[in-house]
Amino acid sequence: MSLIQEIRKRRTFGIISHPDAGKTTLTEKLLLFGGAIQEAGAVKSNKIKKGATSDFMEIERQRGISVATSVLAFNYKDKKINILDTPGHKDFAEDTFRTLTAVDSVIVVIDVAKGVEEQTEKLVEVCRMRNIPMIVFINKLDREGKDAFDLLDEVEQKLGLTVTPLSFPIGMGYDFKGIYNIWEKNINLFSGERKTTVSDTIKFEDVNDPKLNDIIGETAADTLREELELVYEVYPAFEKEAYLKGTLQPVFFGSALNNFGVRELLDCFVEIAPNPRPKDSDTREVLPTEDKFSGFVFKIHANMDPKHRDRLAFVKVVSGEFKRNTPYLHVRSDKKLKFSSPNAFFAEKKEIVDVSYPGDIVGLHDTGNFKIGDTLTEGEVMQYKGIPSFSPEHFRYINNADPMKAKQLQKGIDQLMDEGVAQLFTLELNGRKVIGTVGALQYEVIQYRLEHEYGAKCTYENLNVHKACWVAVEDENNEEFKEFKRVKQKFLAKDKYGQLVFLADSMFSLQMTQQKYPSIQFHFTSEF
Ligand code: GDP
Repeated sequence: MSLIQEIRKRRTFGIISHPDAGKTTLTEKLLLFGGAIQEAGAVKSNKIKKGATSDFMEIERQRGISVATSVLAFNYKDKKINILDTPGHKDFAEDTFRTLTAVDSVIVVIDVAKGVEEQTEKLVEVCRMRNIPMIVFINKLDREGKDAFDLLDEVEQKLGLTVTPLSFPIGMGYDFKGIYNIWEKNINLFSGERKTTVSDTIKFEDVNDPKLNDIIGETAADTLREELELVYEVYPAFEKEAYLKGTLQPVFFGSALNNFGVRELLDCFVEIAPNPRPKDSDTREVLPTEDKFSGFVFKIHANMDPKHRDRLAFVKVVSGEFKRNTPYLHVRSDKKLKFSSPNAFFAEKKEIVDVSYPGDIVGLHDTGNFKIGDTLTEGEVMQYKGIPSFSPEHFRYINNADPMKAKQLQKGIDQLMDEGVAQLFTLELNGRKVIGTVGALQYEVIQYRLEHEYGAKCTYENLNVHKACWVAVEDENNEEFKEFKRVKQKFLAKDKYGQLVFLADSMFSLQMTQQKYPSIQFHFTSEF
């Protein structure tokens, strides 16, 4: 098969949702359709379950699962589908943001009863900023929930989307009868006492067909007709171009648990979802069809087995073919690296592959060369854009608790930061190290992993920081900037890449500083 055919086959996407909306269940049902797994329950949820076991055990369990479910690939019809796993827990939101740099589209799962929840809002905002094509799946229609129109409104308002339903529910909860599939123009009926089985799919080009009354009853048929009329009146017609540009989002309804509405979603998805898309680098836009290989690291997994120090770096292939045992340029270090056993992912297994194509994810064994965001090429010097750091929410000093193990601590901190577990800031004034995280849970993870993987002990000390702001200035020699550096020295630090960061202790002091030094820009992300 030619490179172009391989690219056309691929659909690489992520499923995002607030925890409990049904992401794991939907993933599993999609894999079942692809024949990649045989039974329900095979996909493990990577949720952090608190309370059941000690948190440390839970962290390890979760890490194990998240290695296994990082990439789930399967074939459906003639497409190769790569699902990239995204943690739902808010303390791991930054992992999810980074994974979103490697997807070509997403499916957003929403609970029909809970509607749009906090975590969904944040993740959708990131997708919107990047114009990632999105399909919305409203789940758990077998339960009582919000009215479909109210929910569509809520999705538009809270998520800032423009929606067009491609299916519409007939009743809900106890009265849930099935779904009218606007995309395929047919009706799927939900049957069985306990409403757990899908019965028939009946072709209904025209909902005014009187036969509809016989099938779902006159009242339900009339309601459906009225509702569909409203749908056609209120919502824009589906347009593939608009969806691909990220300006229109199709919506499906269903129940992942009961496997209802999932095939419809998948069939539409494989038809409309984009193939691997071009990607911007610091020098130019790179097309997937270019014959030279390039790719970037969006995730690093380390040391599941403490006896083996190697890590698995997840690389998204952007262009050309990635081949085994071929030297590639690691742009940041200007070194050639080759890989004798690159892993490809299939359902929950990984295996060694000779060739991977754009859209695919390869897992590369690494002994410490990679950082998140690194670019690999066949020789071209360029760096892929788009893996920003966000200002952490929590900040603590990290102290060495065992003076004999200073080296181990240093190495452990460096490697955990490369993996993207948290962010390290080094104070300008005295060289003290500050760890910034999205959630408090990461401090436990770091302490535990430093001890178990590096034999180092650490303690934390509170530090009052409101936000980390990356500092940018046109002319470093201007007097205002010099004064800023002198006066605010105590609040200045360098991030891992040596960029200057202002650690503002309150919103107020940030505003005052901005007013006082108008020629300096303060950014909440490292990418500007
Ligand atoms: P995740 O946190 O988004 O991965 O959510 P899960 O897939 O783990 O689902 C959370 C809970 O909702 C589980 O108990 C599922 O069995 C349940 N669930 C998922 N889909 C449905 C559905 O369509 N109907 C009902 N009633 N429950 C569902």
